[in-house]
Amino acid sequence: MTAITSTRLSDGRELIYFDDPGTNAARAAGPADQRGLPPRGEPGEVRFDALTDEWVAVAAHRQARTHLPPADQCPICPTTPSNPSEIPAADYDVVVFENRFPSLGPALGPVPENAAWGTKGPAYGRCEVVSFTPEHTGSFSTLSETRSRTVIEAWAQRTEALSSLAGIKQVFPFENRGADIGVTLHHPHGQIYAYPYVTPRAGVLGSAAQRYYEKHDGRETLTGSLLKAERQDGSRMVMEGENFSAYVPFAARWPLEIHLVPHRHVPDLAALSGEEKDELAHVYLDLLKRLDALYPTPTPYISAWHQAPLVPELRASGYLHLQLTSPRRAADKLKYLAGSEAAMGAFINDTTPESVAERLRATVPAPATAAAEAAPSQGVPA
Ligand SMILES: [Zn+2]
Repeated sequence: MTAITSTRLSDGRELIYFDDPGTNAARAAGPADQRGLPPRGEPGEVRFDALTDEWVAVAAHRQARTHLPPADQCPICPTTPSNPSEIPAADYDVVVFENRFPSLGPALGPVPENAAWGTKGPAYGRCEVVSFTPEHTGSFSTLSETRSRTVIEAWAQRTEALSSLAGIKQVFPFENRGADIGVTLHHPHGQIYAYPYVTPRAGVLGSAAQRYYEKHDGRETLTGSLLKAERQDGSRMVMEGENFSAYVPFAARWPLEIHLVPHRHVPDLAALSGEEKDELAHVYLDLLKRLDALYPTPTPYISAWHQAPLVPELRASGYLHLQLTSPRRAADKLKYLAGSEAAMGAFINDTTPESVAERLRATVPAPATAAAEAAPSQGVPA
């Protein structure tokens, strides 16, 4: 079992240790944050864009946030005498804490109703940082399977906890990997945003899923039907497991795009069974290793968990899945979102989904690293 220990940083932010099975969780309850940080500020602002019916968060206060600090001043390495970091413990496995420079929050509440031109409100919500490892270098793909499983447990626990907070309408765990994606911190980590509104993309996907679900009287889901069709066709499949399968979508937008889908219809990570999470720990690592094996240098990517929004009309038809995308179109070339994509949202993909799937299937994932092999090998209980 993953041990979970919650504590508070000196400015009141919540910090939660998630320990691998077999780790002495008592260490996490050790030293408190000694930094005496100033109180947290007020939230930024959300403004309603009447041109698109979308909320935009205005977070000017984030300009002061940490940007690519040197390794000896990393804010998510364990605390040392010379680097009193965000993590008070001298060691940890996985840790989640409230972002000191959040785009949303720390206050919670609803966005204004009946939004129209000129409507604005506090940027309520919560932004959390998920550190995957105490090691400053490496990436998710170099974690052990045991550690991967602990991160998944953290995502699931945070999804459940954040979903119950006042005003939250969507919980989004994600990872930006690589400076090309705009990462401001090299230490392997991800983030979780809890929004007070359904994001534009989740709204579009959710509406399509809802229409399909209603057309089939609640017996078929759009994502479930797509998964079935992709598995029958086979040409875009990347891998098939007992509980999860991955494919390149029929109309992929990005040079590299993979969707990882559970076979069972669940709304979010919190609804996965122990057995499903065990398999996910393996297949997610496998996919990331395939991405990294495509080119001589690590592949930048965005790993985005799409979970059913917390609004009744989109909840039942919502279907958990991961969208893993990369702008890399050659060893030394990135796709930039230019006129057609950025201005019109009209994507033009220079690769065919079938050829990308073939490459990913043929790729042999790199073997586990020495660090991953040296990690504790306790079995993860189902
Ligand atoms: Zn670090």
